[in-house]
Amino acid sequence: MSQASDRSMAPGAPVDRRTFLKVAGGTALTLPWLGCSGSKAPGGSVVIVGAGLSGISTALLLEERGIAVTLVEARDRIGGRIYTMDDVVGKPDAGGPVLGASYERLLKIAKALDAPIVPMKNFETSELEYVNGQNVIAADWAGSAANKLVGAEREILPGLLVGFYAGKNLTLEDGHAWTSPKHADLDIPLDEFLRRQGASPEALRLMNIASNNNDLSTTSALWALREAQRRRDTKVRGMMESPGGNSRIPEKLATAIKGPIHKGSPVTKISSGQNGVEVTCASGATYKADYCVITVPFSVLRGITVDPPFQGAQKEAVEQIPYTAITQYFLVPKKSFWDEDKLPPLMWTDTPIERIFPQRDPDGRLMSLTCWIDGASAIKLDAMPEADQIAFVKAELARIRPSTKDNVEVARIMSWARDPYSKGAYSNYLPGQATRLKPVMGNPWQRLHFAGEHTAFTSPGMEGAMESAERVADEVLARL
Ligand SMILES: Cc1cc2nc3c(=O)[nH]c(=O)nc-3n(C[C@H](O)[C@H](O)[C@H](O)COP(=O)(O)OP(=O)(O)OC[C@H]3O[C@@H](n4cnc5c(N)ncnc54)[C@H](O)[C@@H]3O)c2cc1C
Repeated sequence: MSQASDRSMAPGAPVDRRTFLKVAGGTALTLPWLGCSGSKAPGGSVVIVGAGLSGISTALLLEERGIAVTLVEARDRIGGRIYTMDDVVGKPDAGGPVLGASYERLLKIAKALDAPIVPMKNFETSELEYVNGQNVIAADWAGSAANKLVGAEREILPGLLVGFYAGKNLTLEDGHAWTSPKHADLDIPLDEFLRRQGASPEALRLMNIASNNNDLSTTSALWALREAQRRRDTKVRGMMESPGGNSRIPEKLATAIKGPIHKGSPVTKISSGQNGVEVTCASGATYKADYCVITVPFSVLRGITVDPPFQGAQKEAVEQIPYTAITQYFLVPKKSFWDEDKLPPLMWTDTPIERIFPQRDPDGRLMSLTCWIDGASAIKLDAMPEADQIAFVKAELARIRPSTKDNVEVARIMSWARDPYSKGAYSNYLPGQATRLKPVMGNPWQRLHFAGEHTAFTSPGMEGAMESAERVADEVLARL
């Protein structure tokens, strides 16, 4: 059995290279990180809102074609949802910890611009399941009394159950199929779909814990099926990492951008007029350009004034697409409690503290642990004062694993739902939204264009951000 604590997430517009090549024509110019050729466009200017991975990549692509780019970023740092906790021992990644060896676009640009990415070195060799009041080593799960699953489910670790059921008789043909009207009959609540697939009540209970979404009942089955399709069709397996943390990747890429990056500048208004766009920041500063690329999550965009206002299905998507709530507690051990109780530090639990991921240094030494909670449990904890959250997490951990009592400190808390510039970890889809709203989410609106993981179709997470950058650069170039 493989490890169940999968932090990779499900989440991709067709990347139309032909459009780009059509725009290209003329003098051949080698684009070092895409490995394709094009020509400089006749000039023009673009303001990009957000210096996360999609904003940085869009800037690099547009500058390659001679477009003047200005980036406007709310935070004092770049990288957005790729976020290494540099002040926590072991430098765990809060956002974007899992970098797949299949992330072709990201690996290519990283190589071309010397951003450090290497194969992941340290893997956990075992996992502890705390289920129905008992601790069970993963290898003993199938035969354990704590395992109340039924039939073939019994062989599957709790964290792998969604993948097990979503992968059965999978009808999605390719990476785009999950948003096709053809599959609207699967745009139903995920719990209902899993029940139809034969999941027992206990399996449904376990699948609703640490599910990478807010709740199975409010998530489209297509969201999980898309992930299953990707797992089925991915040719390259394995994990990569950036020494010193994944934030080093966007930081390095950003050094190649020639245009200004205005950090600490939250955008409050974006206007599209007949001849150009105007972006206004909270400070009153304004930036004008021919076009604007908006990369902020829709959860954040709904709080920014857009003029003229969105219409129709796109308006609905901006206002309603949910984002997964994730709250993380970064734990620093005072002593090696895992040596004391001889149990694996990696944990999957059916308690409100959900999952624990160890962070190791290059020599394999365990430095810190991330307690990773999503959905309803995260929302509940977010509503409590920080001291109460810390006390709760420590007490719960000590209850299920006594060796941690008085042996861990909480160094940091990161709530993605409460973060004003993310308002959630990643886009999710209510039943009905995958086939009705997803296809129009990234459509241009007036002189405004959209990038970001939420506008990607075929790739999830960081690679989705890259996919969206390629698509939006093509779109803008076609108009300049
Ligand atoms: C907890 C967590 C776990 C994840 N795990 C993985 C994983 O394992 N693997 C994976 O591939 N992906 C993972 N992801 C997703 C991945 O991090 C994102 O998909 C990717 O980084 C998104 O890049 P982006 O450019 O689309 O968005 P962002 O990184 O969010 O960039 C948008 C930028 O806009 C800025 N912004 C917001 N509001 C404003 C404003 N008003 N004015 C100006 N700027 C603004 C933000 O600060 C941000 O820098 C995870 C994310 C989270 C949060």
